[in-house]
Amino acid sequence: MSFASDCKKELCILENKRACCLKAECYGLLLFSKCFSVRESRMICENGAVARRVAEAAAVSAGVYAEVRADLRRKKTGAFTLEIPGEDARRTMIESFGHTGTEVGLRIRMENLKKDCCVASFLRGVFLICGTITDPQKEYHLEFSTPHLHLAEDLVQVLQGVKAAQFSPAIARRKNSYMVYIKESAAIEDFLTLIGAGNSAMDLMQIKMYKEAYNNMNRVSNCETANLDKTYSAASKQIAAIALISDKVGIEELPADLQEVATLRLHNPDMSLRELGERLSISRSGVNHRLRRIMEYAETLGTPEDEVAAQRIGK
Ligand SMILES: [Zn+2]
Repeated sequence: MSFASDCKKELCILENKRACCLKAECYGLLLFSKCFSVRESRMICENGAVARRVAEAAAVSAGVYAEVRADLRRKKTGAFTLEIPGEDARRTMIESFGHTGTEVGLRIRMENLKKDCCVASFLRGVFLICGTITDPQKEYHLEFSTPHLHLAEDLVQVLQGVKAAQFSPAIARRKNSYMVYIKESAAIEDFLTLIGAGNSAMDLMQIKMYKEAYNNMNRVSNCETANLDKTYSAASKQIAAIALISDKVGIEELPADLQEVATLRLHNPDMSLRELGERLSISRSGVNHRLRRIMEYAETLGTPEDEVAAQRIGK
């Protein structure tokens, strides 16, 4: 089961509490289906639950009988055929929403969506019939698809007019249809909540939180690796200096406090200054100060023997 089909399944068992909302959902379902015309009677619907919901809505709110049949030729994808038989029945259905069936460009009749409760139900219907949502594990993307440009434009207007949330939908053309889409995860979450898919919205939120936690974890671990590299490169310079002192004069020539830190550093190249300090019961800056004195002392001894030899040959 995909995220989209889980989401539609959740929506299809919702009950419309008010008659106005039932009618609004039915309007969304039918207007954005391919059956909202006197001529066209049939459409393919991949989701059986959605097809049955359209038939139920058409019967209850428009008094029209719609037939749902499993399409046996497309058994694998589980397709269903939805049909509203009879021109008269289709005309009745269209007219019950205030349309004539002779419009050149199909548009949303805003008169059908006067109440806020009905806007949410209408959008639920539109999402069920022509919407889809990408698995949030991959990306945040919710879209509606329609062959009618004006319907796409009107849908954008309806989405922008929702008072309970902020939607910034965009339109794109794809082959013979128009796609209205939303990309922001928070907006998609709000949309799902608005149309009644509370569980799917919660799932999306959890996936998002998990993704963020995972990214943060990676960031922290990259940061730790970078710090570790820094510790190593500083330590390797200190160890080179200590080795030079050891070669030229011997570590025992160093004052006791420097000897102590030099020996400890030599045996623990991966220790941070803080850890060295803890071992010696001195502060981090105390360790830093002693190591600096060692480096300075090493500098007075010059470069290591082989480098000096190489320089001489060069001259
Ligand atoms: Zn309503």
